[in-house]
Amino acid sequence: MRKPFIAGNWKMNKTFDEAVEFIDALSNVPSNDEVESAICAPFIQLKELVDKTQSSQINIGAQNMHFEDAGAYTGEVSAEMLTNIGVKHVIIGHSERRQYFNETDETVNLKTKQAHKNNLVPIVCVGESDKEREAGKAAEVVESQVKLGLEGLTAEQVKATVIAYEPIWAIGTGKSATSADANEMCGVIRKQVAALYSGAVSEKVRIQYGGSVKPENIKEYMACEHIDGALVGGAALKPDSFEMLLAGA
Ligand code: PGA
Repeated sequence: MRKPFIAGNWKMNKTFDEAVEFIDALSNVPSNDEVESAICAPFIQLKELVDKTQSSQINIGAQNMHFEDAGAYTGEVSAEMLTNIGVKHVIIGHSERRQYFNETDETVNLKTKQAHKNNLVPIVCVGESDKEREAGKAAEVVESQVKLGLEGLTAEQVKATVIAYEPIWAIGTGKSATSADANEMCGVIRKQVAALYSGAVSEKVRIQYGGSVKPENIKEYMACEHIDGALVGGAALKPDSFEMLLAGA
């Protein structure tokens, strides 16, 4: 059985004070043994959020990091810096980073390896654009992103990787994928992992759906065979809404 995993992606939202306010307001976080939960926050908030959640079941994650160990990379943050302050998860290759910050399948792969080297759980994002979907290429695009993103990882590392299927047209648009479509694509991803590694590995890897997930539709997604959780943007910005998502998992 795969443990459900709900991760909030705050993106470039919330001041330091607002982030603290959110964490202080959380009261109903399920046990980490039942539902894994994480808030992926901007870098400057991470240490405070980790400290404030020491006795809570929630994990704190980052939204990005660099793939090199250390050195002359002005403006970047390393995996070691994240683990050193108690961060557990890191989102890698979100479509916004691919679109605006030149992330490629190659950098996604380097960052995924770097995350594992430092015992961070990578949440590797994949997903097709609306044009690619309309052209009937959704499966092909996502299969390629999975293959290149995971290239060179060991089976054990893949088992500990979370893959987030986020169709670009569903992100922040309110236009969520139907649960049938989302499940079909998560199934495509699982099959690809089975082809690249083995059926046993594909049964272990957790796959989230992301794209306009909210308290009203979370249960529908969670009921699907291949969907093990959600990566949530807008609906993870308010504590009560985030708690409803956790309750729906
Ligand atoms: P959304 O964002 O829930 O606001 O659509 C999801 C994401 O980008 O991870």
